[in-house]
Amino acid sequence: MLKIKNLHASIEDKEILKGIDLEINAGEVHAIMGPNGSGKSTLSSIIAGREEFDQTQGEIIFEDTEISEMDPDERAHRGIFLSFQYPVEIPGVSVTNFIRTAINAHRNANGQENMPANEMLKKIREKSEMLGIDRKFLSRSLNEGFSGGEKKRNEIFQMAMLDPKLSILDETDSGLDIDALKTVADGVNSLKSKDKSVLLITHYQRLLNYIVPDFVHVMVDGKIVKSGGKDLAKELDERGYEWIKTEKAV
Ligand code: ADP
Ligand code: MG
Ligand code: MG
Repeated sequence: MLKIKNLHASIEDKEILKGIDLEINAGEVHAIMGPNGSGKSTLSSIIAGREEFDQTQGEIIFEDTEISEMDPDERAHRGIFLSFQYPVEIPGVSVTNFIRTAINAHRNANGQENMPANEMLKKIREKSEMLGIDRKFLSRSLNEGFSGGEKKRNEIFQMAMLDPKLSILDETDSGLDIDALKTVADGVNSLKSKDKSVLLITHYQRLLNYIVPDFVHVMVDGKIVKSGGKDLAKELDERGYEWIKTEKAV
């Protein structure tokens, strides 16, 4: 699904990513962990195509197509979803209307007609029930006065509705409460299927108690310095990151 080769990226001439190689197959859940400032969020932004970062070297191949030159919308239409991509407040546009517009934009970009209204309603009902979202929430203005947990819930609802091929969740270091964590986990776990992939970026191990990754990668100073299975996350939780830095230096 996704193949990243020798990826280098900079912001304002400062090199942040220093040669990333990563391959994610359909059906896999990968987690990237690492100390603050190691470049995890930069990696997610670069994959989604956010323009404040410069990709200076390397390739990003999504479903056999090189996407490095594509703008964020085109990548999204192809099925790449990045959480917190749309954190804006839009007064007067409800959660439901926003998602309806986004779904139809993706369909139209792929040569499909708008989703029939009854199908849309059914999907909204199904996904909101699954995530424990009530109707009142769905008719509120997008992000307006949302609490941290509500923003998270809305974001996961968008993800579940859009049903992307590759979901990238960047768990910013802000503390999510247990309910919000569970919403994230329910959303991600509901997306799991043999043709969908997830890239979870997280500073803390606790989310991985609810979403079990197939692979865990550790990023330090713009490079992936270690990869392993789910046990690596537990080891990091117990031992922190220093030992990896030391191991790397030896
Ligand atoms: P992480 O997500 O692992 O905490 P980031 O990708 O956010 O790491 O940041 C990696 C490095 O890039 C840090 O040194 C950070 O200061 C720098 N950086 C990130 N965004 C910007 C920006 N908009 N302008 C300047 N430097 C940035
Ligand atoms: Mg950070
Ligand atoms: Mg980050």
